[in-house]
Amino acid sequence: MSRVIIIGGGIIGLSSAYYLQKSGHRVTVIDKTDISNTCGFGSAGYICPSHFTPMATPGIVKQGLKWMLNSKSPFYVQPRFSRSLIDWGLKFMRSATKENVEHAAMPLLDIAILSKKLYEEWLLDPEFDFAYEQKGLLEIFQTEASLEHAKHTVERAHEIGLTDTQLLSEHALKAMEPQTRINGIGAVYFKCDAHIYPPKLMQQLTAHLEKAGMVIRKNEEVIKFENQNRKITRVITGNQAYDADEVVIASGSWSRELAAMIGLKIPLVAGRGYSITLEDSPYKINYPSVLIEGRVALTPMDGNKIRFGGTMEITSTNTPPRMNRVVGLIESVKRFYPDFDVPIPTMDKVWYGYRPCSADGLPYIGRTNKWNNVIVATGHSMLGLSLGAGTGKLVDEIINESPLSMDIDPFKAERFG
Ligand SMILES: Cc1cc2nc3c(=O)[nH]c(=O)nc-3n(C[C@H](O)[C@H](O)[C@H](O)COP(=O)(O)OP(=O)(O)OC[C@H]3O[C@@H](n4cnc5c(N)ncnc54)[C@H](O)[C@@H]3O)c2cc1C
Repeated sequence: MSRVIIIGGGIIGLSSAYYLQKSGHRVTVIDKTDISNTCGFGSAGYICPSHFTPMATPGIVKQGLKWMLNSKSPFYVQPRFSRSLIDWGLKFMRSATKENVEHAAMPLLDIAILSKKLYEEWLLDPEFDFAYEQKGLLEIFQTEASLEHAKHTVERAHEIGLTDTQLLSEHALKAMEPQTRINGIGAVYFKCDAHIYPPKLMQQLTAHLEKAGMVIRKNEEVIKFENQNRKITRVITGNQAYDADEVVIASGSWSRELAAMIGLKIPLVAGRGYSITLEDSPYKINYPSVLIEGRVALTPMDGNKIRFGGTMEITSTNTPPRMNRVVGLIESVKRFYPDFDVPIPTMDKVWYGYRPCSADGLPYIGRTNKWNNVIVATGHSMLGLSLGAGTGKLVDEIINESPLSMDIDPFKAERFG
């Protein structure tokens, strides 16, 4: 039985804690917040094997440059002099090749399928009921160029085993959503996807761990480490020092700085996203959807709620939120669902959080070469919720030195050197 210190109480840290505690370790989770609003809370709730294309694609670099001139666009890099941002940007651009996108598909699919299966196992425990629904996901598009792209997506989905993925005509799409008008010329329908109501998952997971006797140290920031013989021996916060046999870095968008304290280079930036939830929606949709040209995610969830989420704003975690991003998001919804008259909310009604974006769109999961007892579990970008349970299981297997559920070589933490 090891003393495992997990730094970060988001979905990745808590999922790791879930499995490590079950396999008998003495686990302490430390978070600098009270963990009541980590990034998973406001997410779109997709558990999505469909997302086998990483963020770094050849198209996004070109499109991103155009979008950067528009303050309402879905993608934005805040211009600032930051060595780590420049380093990340160069690595991101180098990763954004057709070959890398192809190589990333299977690892992303494997970990998503593993994770989805594990979430379904959690639901067998009466302590969990996070409004899980297996309805699939529509990727709705409006242009001929997107139609051509959708044909390739469906072909690729079939090639990698998602054989029930369909290309829907405009007529077929509209037949799936008879309760509202849709402006789209078609959609890709991924039957493989599920969705949840994220706050329920996060709260139930925390309650489950606390009930099982897990120590969760809230509002304590890890500020330094002590080491001996290539091992981290103590994790130090403002208030306390914790002896450690194993240390898990699951610190989301702050992982780069934290890893740097022990000499690890993890290229990572924060990608801010926003979401708005209609708690009792007057509008009805049957299926979650991604609006391709608007880059917005809509999720009908937990009864009568609808959540709109999106935008990727590469920025520091200290800059104030930008209302124009939210306006752009709501305008996109209206362009696709013309009946949806969503009022622009005041900023206090808007949720925002920071996606931990790796430089190639694959997470960083695994032990490091530099330290014998440090496991990195971060960089899940837009997929942390979907890949949470799977990542937690892998962290547990790594620490127990038991056979891994999948090949984690593509996720090596030090793959950028
Ligand atoms: C608008 C939006 C929609 C999204 N939709 C989806 C979706 O539908 N499906 C999906 O799979 N993903 C989605 N995501 C992405 C997903 O939410 C994230 O990838 C995931 O929540 C990241 O989890 P995490 O545990 O790595 O990080 P976090 O949740 O950020 O947790 C990291 C924790 O580490 C703590 N920490 C950091 N540094 C320290 C320190 N020094 N000491 C102590 N604690 C520290 C932080 O306080 C934080 O609580 C979405 C994200 C956004 C913004």
